[in-house]
Parts: sequence; C-alpha cells; structure tokens
Amino acid sequence: MKNKKISQSFLKNYNDYKGKKLCGLKFKAQHFDNLEFPTTLPMDLGNYFEYVATGCLPRNGVKPEPKISYVGTKREAMSTPYVRANESAELFKKIKEAYKIEIVDVGLKLESKNKNGILDIWAEMDGRPCIIDLKYSGLIDDKWAETGWDVESLHYKERLLVQAIQYKMLVKENYGLNYDEFDFLFMVFSSKEVHNVKFIRINIDEDAYRVHENHISSIFKQINAMNIEKDFIPYPSINSCSKCPLYSTCEYKSDIPLIEDVYYGG
Ligand code: SF4
Repeated sequence: MKNKKISQSFLKNYNDYKGKKLCGLKFKAQHFDNLEFPTTLPMDLGNYFEYVATGCLPRNGVKPEPKISYVGTKREAMSTPYVRANESAELFKKIKEAYKIEIVDVGLKLESKNKNGILDIWAEMDGRPCIIDLKYSGLIDDKWAETGWDVESLHYKERLLVQAIQYKMLVKENYGLNYDEFDFLFMVFSSKEVHNVKFIRINIDEDAYRVHENHISSIFKQINAMNIEKDFIPYPSINSCSKCPLYSTCEYKSDIPLIEDVYYGG
C-alpha cells in the first residue's frame, strides 16, 4: 500500500481495530476495498437532514429520500422523524441568517501529504472564515456517551474533537491560514426535539495540533508499510459478525460467543 491518506473516520476505526474493538477484515473492507456498508436509520436521517439543510449529497452520491409511513393507506404520510428533520433543516436556514453565515462550499474535499477530510460547510460567518460541521444527534445532552454532546464534558471526548483538529489542520495546509484566522464550529441538532440545537466553537491548544500530527504521521507510516491483503487480523464476535456485510463469505465468522479469559488474583 502506498500513500493511503488518513481521514478522521479512518483514524477512529483504526484505533478501534488496534484496541480489538473492530474486526480487521471489516476495517479493511470499509477503508481499502470501499465496500458500501448498510446504513442505519440515524445515518439515513442525518444524511436527509444535511441534504435538505445544505443541498449536500451523502458520500454515495444518492439523493436521500424521506421515509413514508402507512404506504397505500389513507394515513400515508412522511414519517415523523423525517418531518422533524425537515423542521430542523428550516431552523438551520434561520440560524444561518441570524449569524450572517455565507456558505462558500459544501462537501469540500481537502487533502494534504498524509491526511484528508470532507468539510460539511466552508463558510464565512460575519466575514470570518469558518468550518461548520453539522450533526444530527440523538445524544445532544448526553454526558457519558463518547459521542454525546453535553458541552461541559465535551473537552474529554477525543472521539468527537479529533475532527476539529484534523479539519483545522487541513484548512491551514491547503489555504495557508493561521489557526487564529478561522474557526471550527459544530452545529448540533437534536433528532428528537427540533428546538434543541447547540452551536459550539472548538478552541484548540497549539500543542494538540503537534500531538495530532505525530499520531497521524505514525499511523500513515504503519499503514503504508503494511501488506493490506494479508496483515489485518480478524476479530470475530457473534455480535459484530451478525451485522457484518462480509458474513456470507467470511471464513472467520462466529455464530456463537467465543470464550474470553479473565484473570483474577495471583
Ligand atoms: S464476519 Fe466477522 S470475522 Fe468476518 S469480517 Fe465480518 S466481523 Fe470480521
């Protein structure tokens, strides 16, 4: 493998793989073989919301359509979560006006020597350049989940914040702006309650960029030295195999729980 660049989702999944929380064959299929994995309802809803809000198509390039309930009956109508997603998209447009956000580009692909990423929104807010990442979340007030958006505990949540660091670095590397000349903001909409929205600016310490660059460059070297066809280790489990698109052909799959050893005392 030569010159595989590291995206923030690649980084998260690779860390999961190294922690044996993600099967290596699944990881390879997703990031090297470009196998399209089935989407979940929250992902479909998020894609639909973002499309209606900004006109940006999801990665697969297919226009998201709302789900219809009671098809073929008198009660046929857009399903309630999609009605809410439409209302959230309208609210996004109102927020955009209120903050004087002028969108320059949506779905903007950026890359540098060892990393890449796709910015939801590259914009100017009241004349200042900014990256805005839209989230459509069922965990907007959650403090404990690693993908929960409780603001007080957010600074502990590396899994969410790594995106801000990666994207600010990509903008600097592509456009030559200094970190203090533009912002990164998450705009988080609740998928359960239209009027629960958070607009969060992430302020990043200079050291965090250095740490991230070291991490990315080490993974970039590891990955590009690997034999991608042979070196990934399968980590089967009854749960992950049951949801895996490779299940029907995989020789490592498991249909029963595997015994895990716990050592105590001594
Ligand atoms: S079926 Fe199981 S072992 Fe095979 S790739 Fe999927 S998760 Fe890994």
